[in-house]
Amino acid sequence: MSVDILIIEDEPSLSRLLATTLSAQGYVVTTAMRADEALARVAVDDPALILLDLGLPDRDGLSLLPLLKERCQAQVIIVSARSQESEKIAALDAGAEDYLTKPFSVAELLARLRVAQRRRQEAVPVAQRYVVGDLEVDLEQRQVVLAGEVIKLTPKEYQLLAILAQSGGRVVTHAQLLQAIWGRHHSDDTHYLRIYLRQLRQKLERDPGEPRYLITEPGVGYRLGD
Ligand code: CA
Repeated sequence: MSVDILIIEDEPSLSRLLATTLSAQGYVVTTAMRADEALARVAVDDPALILLDLGLPDRDGLSLLPLLKERCQAQVIIVSARSQESEKIAALDAGAEDYLTKPFSVAELLARLRVAQRRRQEAVPVAQRYVVGDLEVDLEQRQVVLAGEVIKLTPKEYQLLAILAQSGGRVVTHAQLLQAIWGRHHSDDTHYLRIYLRQLRQKLERDPGEPRYLITEPGVGYRLGD
């Protein structure tokens, strides 16, 4: 039988809280406290989504991630402490779909689950058009429309926006953006991104200081608002 969400979390109180909250929302939930238990569960449960704590007693979540991805098609959301910032980024670069930093609110958790579910449903085929508020990114026509008006972007500005649009509200790390746009040897040049993000915000945001579309995830990367 397949379940909606597998919670891999060794802190009993947090695991219970997550399981209770998500069950109350109608999700079918199972839990695992250890990595070996999680690997046994995925084969049986075939979860649609996985909440993965990075700090597990028998194996770190980062090395568990590829093993989970081999065994099921689940979207993986990393759950981590603030002190695990670099591991969180490594997990996103290794294919995790999203992350939550402890402590997080129930509203935040549910919002991330909705994004992950939407992505899973849209997994095939890839959406060719991304619409959020007044902003429309047409990936086929390579056209960006804001409130009915075509916006002229430079090729790099467009590339950056297109990658965020293709990710559909999911965070994209600095390294992923830099490698996709400028190549592997520029994966540390985050100042490139700041420059282009500032330009994009000036063209697309009503208030560039309070962006609605181009959201900064501090220390991690960027996502398109939804
Ligand atoms: Ca833990």
